[in-house]
Amino acid sequence: MPVLPTVETIRTIAWMKEHTRQARAESRIVGLVPTMGALHAGHLSLVERARRDCSPVIASIFVNPKQFGPNEDFAKYPRRFVSDSENLQRAGVDSLFAPEPADIYPHGFSTYVNVDGLSDRLEGRSRPGHFRGVTTVVMKLLQIVQPNYAYFGRKDAQQSRLITQMTRDLNVDTEIVVCPPVREPDGLALSSRNIYLNADERKAATVLYGALQAAKSELAAGVRDALQLQAVLHGALGAERQARVDYAEIVDAESFEPVIRVSQPCYVLLAVFIGKTRLIDNLFVEPKSSNSEELVFHF
Ligand code: AMP
Repeated sequence: MPVLPTVETIRTIAWMKEHTRQARAESRIVGLVPTMGALHAGHLSLVERARRDCSPVIASIFVNPKQFGPNEDFAKYPRRFVSDSENLQRAGVDSLFAPEPADIYPHGFSTYVNVDGLSDRLEGRSRPGHFRGVTTVVMKLLQIVQPNYAYFGRKDAQQSRLITQMTRDLNVDTEIVVCPPVREPDGLALSSRNIYLNADERKAATVLYGALQAAKSELAAGVRDALQLQAVLHGALGAERQARVDYAEIVDAESFEPVIRVSQPCYVLLAVFIGKTRLIDNLFVEPKSSNSEELVFHF
């Protein structure tokens, strides 16, 4: 195989700022794709989307210590810098921002960004402090790169909703673009954490997509009652003995509060442990048009 030149890697905040300052001075449209590395086709779909709108496209890799709880997988989170950098090069990224934790969080760092309310529910309840870590690091990345557009995955629906809210609340001049999840052929949403699954667990993990499909069938048949839909989700997930449900909820797509009936844009949200690996997935549902009983489904 031909040896590819590696993508230009920017290691310091000062260098990154200078880099995009130049791009903006030339009136170029700067796009940012923030990641924690261990890249898969989901991440690369964000790059591809960014390349449609922006030049330069900058990807960042930063495994953010502040978004991991004390009993979470920060130390063993997959780190694959060389292959990530090759994949980004192949995907057409212009530069890679890969700062050191000590540069992002120097001694004495003490300012955090928190989106009240929205950060406390669902993922926030199960992973206290997680979203405060996410919004803080994303705010810092947006400050450093000052992109025109930043790209996030709807696979992390609550996260992308929070980031959109944060940029609105803090008048950040970056448009947040939320992109659809990329899935394996059997429906499992791609995730850097899928590599933790052994062969048996990998098979069992398809139960998340199966449960979302079951909810979709009920909705398509006219069921709108959230409790009834939740029972369907629990029924489907309960049939897989390796699955332990953290939450299975139907929530309003703006507030992430539980709904009683599906009559507005909603998410069907799942967080499920398969063995020790916690996976999340969702189905976005919206009425076809205002006052329409017919729904459109987005996996
Ligand atoms: P992560 O590296 O897990 O922090 O993810 C970086 C970005 O990639 C986030 O905006 C995620 O929502 C997005 N992402 C993760 N998995 C997928 C996927 N399967 N499809 C599309 N985007 C994804």
